[in-house]
Order: sequence, then C-alpha cells, then structure tokens
Amino acid sequence: MSRLQTPIRRNDTVAINTGKDSGKRGRVLKVLPAKNRLIVEGVNLIKRHTRPNPQRNIKGGIAEQEGRISVSNVALVCGTCGPVRIGHEVRGDRKVRVCKKCGTTLDK
Ligand SMILES: [Zn+2]
Repeated sequence: MSRLQTPIRRNDTVAINTGKDSGKRGRVLKVLPAKNRLIVEGVNLIKRHTRPNPQRNIKGGIAEQEGRISVSNVALVCGTCGPVRIGHEVRGDRKVRVCKKCGTTLDK
C-alpha cells in the first residue's frame, strides 16, 4: 500500500518513536508531503551557524532550529490514549481520522 499524502497535518501533536528525541512530543509546524517529512516543534534541533545580516535584522551566531524528521518516525497522539495508529472513517460527507484504539475523531 502506498499513499502519497501523509496522515499527519499541521498543528497535530505527535510523539517521536526513534532517535535522540524518542519519546518526545511536539506540535507539527510544517508538513513536507512530497518528501514525507515533518518539522516538529522542539524536535530534532540542529545548530545553525548564521552570518549577521543587519539589513534583515539577523544577528550572527549559532541558532537552534528544528530539522526535518520522517513521517514514519512519528505517531499521532490521541488526547485519551497517547500515541496511536490512525484509522479513517466517513462521517457525513467528510472523511476523518480516528484513533484506532478509542474511535475518537482526531480532526478538529
Ligand atoms: Zn484514542
């Protein structure tokens, strides 16, 4: 089964499954569907050396920034159950994401 669209969306809360940030949770800031990658707040921080640019009011030095992580390394967090698998259900004329454990819709 292959689907191009990721089930994760912006502003979702996800839990990280692997790597140095394993167990961490964060809010999805950005989804990069073409690459199946996400930017998650506070996760996979990388140090970036930036050059000062007074015209754009950028101070030089080392800034921390979120790096991309693979969608396959995260799980969507259900408010009741914690990190869960996502199911899909049609409610009315809308297809919504549901928690596979408790059946609650995960869409706002
Ligand atoms: Zn649930």
